[in-house]
Amino acid sequence: MEMIRLNPVFKDYLWGGVRLREQYNKDCAYDKVAESWELAVHKDGTNTVGSGPDAGMPLDRYLKKQGDACLGARAAAFDFFPVLIKLIDAKDPLSIQVHPSDEYALAHEGEYGKTEVWYIVDAEPGSFLYFGLNRTVTPEEFKRRIQDNTILEILNKVEVKPGEIYFIPSGTIHAIGAGILICEIQQNSNLTYRVYDYDRRDKDGNPRELHVEKALKVASMEKLDLAPQGARSAGAQGGIKTPIADCKYFASTHYTVGEKCDLTADPGSFTHLLFLDGAGSVRYDGASLDFQKGDSFLVPAGTGAIAVKGRCQFVATTV
Ligand SMILES: [Zn+2]
Repeated sequence: MEMIRLNPVFKDYLWGGVRLREQYNKDCAYDKVAESWELAVHKDGTNTVGSGPDAGMPLDRYLKKQGDACLGARAAAFDFFPVLIKLIDAKDPLSIQVHPSDEYALAHEGEYGKTEVWYIVDAEPGSFLYFGLNRTVTPEEFKRRIQDNTILEILNKVEVKPGEIYFIPSGTIHAIGAGILICEIQQNSNLTYRVYDYDRRDKDGNPRELHVEKALKVASMEKLDLAPQGARSAGAQGGIKTPIADCKYFASTHYTVGEKCDLTADPGSFTHLLFLDGAGSVRYDGASLDFQKGDSFLVPAGTGAIAVKGRCQFVATTV
């Protein structure tokens, strides 16, 4: 089976910027490119194959054609494709939001809940995000604060720097702030309950829908103590290796490579590679594909060596 290049899916949400087009080589005609879905098999967006004899084929069809051997046994064991990976360019802040757990989402919405992790790729000085509550509140107080525009007062406001990692379990109130570019690795779900949107209007002058009642059912009202989120880096074959997350749905690692880095394809799962910086080539099983900043590749589950050549940074994700 071959390693393939993936063509992303773009989203032009109102808070997006232009950096994914201007700095990450995304060929997208939207005014704003808020999100680029780098690994997506979802009803709201699915990648297409970007290289080889099946170029242009939707990824779900391609994976079906290749069979479970391509996904690997761990990934194939899920009822739905388990992971969704995005680049997010927040020029303006995202709404204050919460995602449901699997338990709630599968019972009420027919899809997975959403636990997500953020790797901060870039952040303007002073940029921040909201992450959990700074004190425990009652649902009544929470609701009142949405109505009287004071909800921000009870949220943890966290200044961020490039290279930081934030793990956001489902049920945690959060928002990405302005000036932050993130690589988000999440469960394969697009379920967001919007709590507060700063009273913004869309391009037609309408406020976006809020989902306060649902949010109250799934959000934690407990104070969230901010533990340091930094991960320990270690030397890797030809680079520096930093674990980003390892949960039931995905395991992701960030690599900084000087010249060349050797990985081994995981026999139990496909490997997704997303290049955040640099340029070069990636080789697997005799095939070689060139990459530049912003490119994504899917390596089938297997046993061979993956060689990344060129000064670069990338995120490798398996299930
Ligand atoms: Zn979120």
